[in-house]
Amino acid sequence: MISHSVSQSDLISLSNFIIDRFEQLIEYFDLDFYKERKRYTGKCPIHDGDRGNAFAMYTEGQDIVGNWFCYTRGCHKHFINTPIGFIRGLLSRHKFDWNITNRKFGFYDTIKWCTDFFDKQLENSEVDIDKFRFIKQSSIFEKKETQKNTIDRKYILKSLDIPSKYFLEKRGLSKNILTKYDIGDCLSKNKPMSNRTVVPIYNNIYMGCTGRSMLKECSKCGFFHENNCPKKEHEYFFSKWRHNKNFNSENCLYNYVNTLHFIKKTGVVVLFESSINVLKFEDYGMHLSLCTFGAKFSDLQRDLLDKSGAMTIVTISDNDAAGEQMRKTVKEKCDKLYKVVDLYVPDNKNDINDCVEKELINLKKRIEQEFYELGK
Ligand SMILES: [Zn+2]
Ligand SMILES: [Zn+2]
Repeated sequence: MISHSVSQSDLISLSNFIIDRFEQLIEYFDLDFYKERKRYTGKCPIHDGDRGNAFAMYTEGQDIVGNWFCYTRGCHKHFINTPIGFIRGLLSRHKFDWNITNRKFGFYDTIKWCTDFFDKQLENSEVDIDKFRFIKQSSIFEKKETQKNTIDRKYILKSLDIPSKYFLEKRGLSKNILTKYDIGDCLSKNKPMSNRTVVPIYNNIYMGCTGRSMLKECSKCGFFHENNCPKKEHEYFFSKWRHNKNFNSENCLYNYVNTLHFIKKTGVVVLFESSINVLKFEDYGMHLSLCTFGAKFSDLQRDLLDKSGAMTIVTISDNDAAGEQMRKTVKEKCDKLYKVVDLYVPDNKNDINDCVEKELINLKKRIEQEFYELGK
């Protein structure tokens, strides 16, 4: 039986397997295709079109092997444009007479169909079933564990005023979520995180923390300070967000361990720039969001997503130039293997923490109705 937790590496190896045996599919579905140098071309069998060159499936080349396109109706946009998405499209057409509005053949049912048809076992799906086993196997976390952190959760609980009054009062987060995530204000003087609301980052073990300044933004220099504006070389200490010294945000995705279960279940992951966005979504019952700690998106963060079981990546980045950069980077790094969708907060808001309840609920509904894989 195929569990609802197929790993990205299984999907890649299954896709490659299918491409090597593409002729079998052509024969089985009686497809009207002809072979060109690097691709098969023909009528699109998914919308059952007439145009003889509307469809292309690339079977050779460096980057786009296994990608397919329907140039007339864009059928590839309704399924992921991998070989598995193609088969899902074919099965949807054959079983449910799919034409955009009709029901799709289930994603996991498609995987099952593929493993039966090609008589191919999945290799790694076992690994992903138990998230804790997976965390232990991940080299990224192993590296961190050997660094011997002297700080642990007990120390965090002792040093912070939890739940953070600043996030409670100024950012509208609930006491419940702040307590659950150990979010507190650093009220002691002369600490690296003094005057900041601290967000500890755990991946089973404590990884580090990031802090949001509780001071006002200076209209002259744009930094967050009391007294005089900082010198150039000290500006970092007064930035809006600051990580603790040994924390490398590129190795991590905030909320990863907590969300794995939900990502596997729905096939969807939401990417935000900031941990406070994640907390806001958690407050509204959406347990599948992660943050990248800023507008960057590293290769290591992409590797983590590859192991998560996500099929669709929804970005909800800020309504500014940095947010645009993040949407671009995620697209560049993930477009080939995932369906990447950008959602936006209303034009007059910068991020989801500025949104009112109605806007948040609309976003939530859209994600659930349009992107959840299960039950579709
Ligand atoms: Zn088509
Ligand atoms: Zn200033």
